[in-house]
Formats: sequence, structure tokens, C-alpha cells
Amino acid sequence: MDYKPFLASRTSRMDASAIREILKVVSKPGMISLAGGIPAPESFPMSIMQDLTNQVLKKYGSTAFQYDLTEGFQPLRQALINHLENKGLLATQNEILISSGSQGGLDALGKILISKGDKIAVEAPTYLGAIQAFNPYEPEYLQMETDSNGLIPESLEQILQSEQIKFVYLVPTFQNPTGRTIPLARRQRIAELICRYDALLIEDDPYGDLRYQGDAVPSIKSLAPEHVVYMGTLSKTFAPGLRIGYILAPELIQHWLVLCKQGVDLHTSTFNQALAAEYLSGGYLQAHLPNIIRLYKPRQEAMLNALDQHFPSEFSWSRPEGGMFLWVEGPRGFDMEKLYQKAVQQNVAFVPGRFFYSQENEGLETMRLNFTMTDEQTIEKAIKILAEVTRKVL
Ligand code: PMP
Repeated sequence: MDYKPFLASRTSRMDASAIREILKVVSKPGMISLAGGIPAPESFPMSIMQDLTNQVLKKYGSTAFQYDLTEGFQPLRQALINHLENKGLLATQNEILISSGSQGGLDALGKILISKGDKIAVEAPTYLGAIQAFNPYEPEYLQMETDSNGLIPESLEQILQSEQIKFVYLVPTFQNPTGRTIPLARRQRIAELICRYDALLIEDDPYGDLRYQGDAVPSIKSLAPEHVVYMGTLSKTFAPGLRIGYILAPELIQHWLVLCKQGVDLHTSTFNQALAAEYLSGGYLQAHLPNIIRLYKPRQEAMLNALDQHFPSEFSWSRPEGGMFLWVEGPRGFDMEKLYQKAVQQNVAFVPGRFFYSQENEGLETMRLNFTMTDEQTIEKAIKILAEVTRKVL
């Protein structure tokens, strides 16, 4: 039987993720993967999971296994309010919704905000998962220019001046894929622009807590609270498999997000939310975060040192103060796809950067490198191999 005629027209916009195809190659035995974007399993606080589980059972009993409010488990929302207050973000319970990962939040925002043909402004490059979440709602993307300090505010202003856009989507801190962070002065300018043009901005912040050096930069949400929907997640600082994300949004938007989530999954797992509530309110996140940083910081340093030592001078790369990724740019005309094919033959994988652009034929000479999943020695070895293959392609 031909099932294609049964599919909704929106599926034509739902391509299989190219990265998923790459990750299949990566699971080959012997492959060193700098391609993934996932936290190291050693970063999960396994030693306290049993205690947290016992606490949840004792404190909440059967409540932790019952249906619950769509908005989210109340103790978790309260714990998040306290957590966000430490980052200079003031929220009420009515402004916080727990989502199934921030990915679930991106889909919900797409569903309630995007009508077919609406224009959305995104960074070039941007988080591929956001494009995948928004695509089924059939938007058009307007790319904004970036440099080593992330989004260039003038590029945003140009779009705000000339186009009617639905929202701006940004990952301002340790961006996926580039690792770049928008500095405070630019954030202030961006905040001022979205206020002036009465625009809505989605600030996706999964990596902000993974800071290995330097000082935290205020969120754009804290600079323009009424114009920003802020999204966070416990995927990188607790455990991604629990699927706990959250959205801090003005009440009207929250109202529609809740209605939307009711129809999708009623609510995120009560038990997982209760674990997360204990993790935050018991001070475990604060205690465990330094362990995660101790794990990732030397990995990032090893990658930067290896790049400095081995990579040809025609290449440049980001030097983020945190996060999970580095972004490498080759000279104009360099064929990263060719490098990818040759590197995989040598058992080293990465993601060619072009997949992170909403338009075709961009970022052809770029690549994303992940440093969280591999130990220092292996990173050094992989970068050495990549450098050798790069010289050959050059
Ligand atoms: N946003 C960005 C920028 C990400 O990099 C990721 C994870 N790769 C997510 C959202 C989704 O994370 P989660 O659903 O696990 O919270």
C-alpha cells in the first residue's frame, strides 16, 4: 500500500535530521565522535539518584505517580523560581511552565505562535533542533548575521525595520553550534531594539550554567522582561533523559502554551519533575555543578590546545568560556563535506556546519566540534588526525 497520500502536507517540511544520519555513522566501532551534542554520562549525579528517589517516595508518595497540573509540579515550579532569582530573573508561578525538555517548549511555542508563512528571525548559524521544531508550522526564516560575538544587532535592526516578523529566536549564551556568547553591550542593544519595535524574542538558554571561566552575562530576558520568552532545561546540569525543561513567559503566552500542552501530553512526568524539584531545592544542583565543570573544562582546554598546536593557520575557531561546542571556520571555498568524508574514513566524526543554517549553501567551510563526550587524550588524538586530513584536503 502507498501510505504517502495519507500524510499531512506539513510533513513535506519535516526532513529527517541530517545530523541523525551522521550520528548513525558515528556509532561504528572505533569511531571517535566529536559530532554529538550530548552531555557525558559521567556528568550525571548518579551517586545521589537513589537518595533523591527515596526522598521523592517519602515526601510525595503516590502523588509522584498521579496525573498532575499541566503547568507543572508545583514544588518544581517553586524551586525554579528560586533558581531563576539567583540569575536575576523574577518570575511568578503563573509565568512558569514545565515542558518535556526545552525541545518540547520549542514545539509548543511554534504551535501557538507560527501561522503558515510567518517570518521568524534566526541567527546564521542557529540550533538545528529549533528549525526542526518550527518547520511543521511552515514559517519562513530570515537569517541574521553573526560574528565572533554572536548576533550583530544591526542585522536584527535591519529586519525589524523592513519586515513584519513573528519572533526572533536566539541562543545568546554558549550557542549551539558555535559556542559563542553575545556580550552585555550587544544584549543591551538587542533588548533596546526589541522594546522599540515591540518585537517578541525567544531566548533559549540550555548552556548558561556550564561556564568554565569568566563572569556570567545577564540574560536578555532580564533586560527586556516583557518582550522575551526565556527557556531553560535541566538536560545539561542534571540528566537529559528525565526530559525536564521550562519556559518563563508572559501570562497570555503561558495561557496558550498550557492549552497546547494539555492536548499534547497533559503534563511532563510527575515523578521526574519531583526528582528535579528535590535536586534543585535540596541544593544538589549547586553542589554538583562544579563536578560537571571539572569534567568539561579540561576537555575544552585539550581541544583548544590541540587545535592551536596542530591545525593549519588558514583556519580559525571560537574560544568560548563554557558550553559544549567549538566552531571551526576554514578558508573561503574549503570543502568541509570532503573533509568529513575523509575524516570518517580515519574514524573521526564531526558535524559539517552547513546543517546549522536555515538557508542552503551557507557555512560550507565550517564545522561544529563537541568536546563533552570524549576524554582529553582522545580529543588530542582526534584533532591531530583531523588536522592531518585537513592539510590533505587543503
Ligand atoms: N536548545 C538548544 C540550543 C539545544 O542545544 C538543545 C539540546 N541539544 C535543546 C534546546 C533541547 O534540549 P532539551 O530538550 O534536552 O532540554
